Amino acid sequence: MHADCIFCQIIRKERPAEFVYEDDTLVVFKDAFPHAPVHLLIVPKKHIRGINDLAEEDREIISGMIFRAREEARQAGVNTSGYKLTFNVERGAGQVIFHLHLHLTGGWTR
Ligand code: AMP
Ligand code: ZN
Repeated sequence: MHADCIFCQIIRKERPAEFVYEDDTLVVFKDAFPHAPVHLLIVPKKHIRGINDLAEEDREIISGMIFRAREEARQAGVNTSGYKLTFNVERGAGQVIFHLHLHLTGGWTR
């Protein structure tokens, strides 16, 4: 855990967030500045800086995040209408929080 990491603070409940799910390895909360009608962040409890910093031992964490995202999409009702799962990797791609997270966005009308 990193004391100055916003997502570690949320995980430790030192900073508020709208949680929708929590288990031993990950949390899911609403993005505070949503880019889509549904915008959730799937965040491992382990502080990993980002995709470039993944270790072999993190394979289960990543697969757990994807399976959790699929379930959250179903619960949010966007599984059949469509959704995106996005990892922003490094600043040039828009990563501003350096604690690994998967964006789930969806719910657009068209
Ligand atoms: P990224 O650009 O991939 O690093 O994504 C970081 C995301 O975290 C952005 O979509 C922000 O809107 C979101 N965010 C930043 N601070 C908070 C917060 N305190 N609670 C919830 N979401 C946040
Ligand atoms: Zn962190």
